[in-house]
Amino acid sequence: MQTLDLAGIGIGPFNLSLAALLAPVPGVRARFFERRPAFDWHPGMMLPGTRMQTSYLKDLATPVDPTSPYGFLSYLVEKGRFYRFINADFPRVRRVEFADYLRWAAERVPNLGFGQGVRGVEFDGRGFRLSLGDGRAVSARHLAVATGMAPHVPPWAERHLGKHCWHSHSYMNAEFSVENRRVAIIGGGQSGAEIFLELMAGARGRAADVTWITRRPNLDPLDETAFINEYFTPDYLRHFHRLPEERRSALARSHKLTGDGVSPVTLQELSQYLYERDFLAGDAATPYRVLPQREVYLMGREPGGFHLRMNNGFNHGEEAASADLVILATGYRYALPDCLAALTPALSLDPEGFPRLAEDYSAQWDGPAEHRIYMLNAGRNSHGVADAQLSLAAWRSAVIVNSVAGREVYATEPCPSPLTWAGTQPGGRRESQPAARLCSS
Ligand SMILES: Cc1cc2nc3c(=O)[nH]c(=O)nc-3n(C[C@H](O)[C@H](O)[C@H](O)COP(=O)(O)OP(=O)(O)OC[C@H]3O[C@@H](n4cnc5c(N)ncnc54)[C@H](O)[C@@H]3O)c2cc1C
Repeated sequence: MQTLDLAGIGIGPFNLSLAALLAPVPGVRARFFERRPAFDWHPGMMLPGTRMQTSYLKDLATPVDPTSPYGFLSYLVEKGRFYRFINADFPRVRRVEFADYLRWAAERVPNLGFGQGVRGVEFDGRGFRLSLGDGRAVSARHLAVATGMAPHVPPWAERHLGKHCWHSHSYMNAEFSVENRRVAIIGGGQSGAEIFLELMAGARGRAADVTWITRRPNLDPLDETAFINEYFTPDYLRHFHRLPEERRSALARSHKLTGDGVSPVTLQELSQYLYERDFLAGDAATPYRVLPQREVYLMGREPGGFHLRMNNGFNHGEEAASADLVILATGYRYALPDCLAALTPALSLDPEGFPRLAEDYSAQWDGPAEHRIYMLNAGRNSHGVADAQLSLAAWRSAVIVNSVAGREVYATEPCPSPLTWAGTQPGGRRESQPAARLCSS
């Protein structure tokens, strides 16, 4: 059995980016393992019409290697629709198109194994030993763990999960009709907004009514203005990582809406939809309620459905609602994957359960330093809110490639921010700094 330099667990966009950037690097033997039979990006939330929250240029490779054959522009050119795409001038591309791009890349990037779930990982003193679902085992010097986030189900909903109550991550997989039924959607982020719009538009039949409940003070927007977007740059990450741990987790919490609000384009669509529904649609329109600042704390059964009890944070009142179907658009949480159970005692975790990560995304652990466990999408408290987004996925992959290769394969030196995060040095590019270099081999 040959020992790999790097074994990747999970093939979502983040490890796919790492595999794409490792592909041209000579002398690094890597293989990535995915339990799904083929690449599939959040299939349960692939609603028609939904759009990306990030630029298509923040793809698997372009931000660090625009010459990569795995970039979004190569996809457009190979599909023969580059000029049409430019002419159509989308503010943000459709999620369905980006998912197709990712699938296209997954068919071309080498060293990917689908239908090969990782059941467990052990460290035997000389390396990591991965047991695969099909009974085979693989050895590797380093790991890259990118198994994604786990759907968050609030404790009051757990015992009701089933045919009439489910989490949004499986929304498109669920077979259901809302015809003449009362529907409650819980959660005021992007997924809640998309599901509300879809149900109001009658995609699943005509509901008796739709109640959309969120504990957020309002339908809060994703803040994607210029200086907020500085949080999604390598320069900010470097400064952020140098802060003390408590300061980092407090900052990450305060940055929630920079990565977790509703896209302004969706809010406008929503506002226009409700205007038309309220004033132009006539009697055929589905009744609705949008309830901001409501924190649901109890869900129970009642004849024919569920009742929900909630606190109103606006007037500090108590309120209740009834529903036949409850859809939980309650987001995702970080959790260490089960396959790392044997390694977990050796990992250093912060008080919120996130692994403590070095600047190169390797986890602090009790094992030998020459064996590293890189963790992708686990760094909210070490690298900031950008860690869960596509914005810096390619840059993070480049940092990890350099660390695995032990040399600078990709230039990752940050471009200085116009904002001075610490100290009083002037921000922006200074004359003496060299321009960022591209990939060197
Ligand atoms: C609906 C939705 C839309 C989003 N849209 C955007 C956006 O527009 N812009 C943006 O920047 N971010 C977006 N995000 C956030 C983020 O980019 C995605 O969640 C992204 O998919 C995270 O990539 P990942 O590789 O970490 O995880 P995932 O995409 O979740 O992939 C993890 C993979 O690991 C596999 N896996 C898990 N355990 C094992 C195991 N033991 N063995 C083998 N395989 C395993 C899973 O099957 C899965 O395929 C969105 C998130 C959601 C939920």
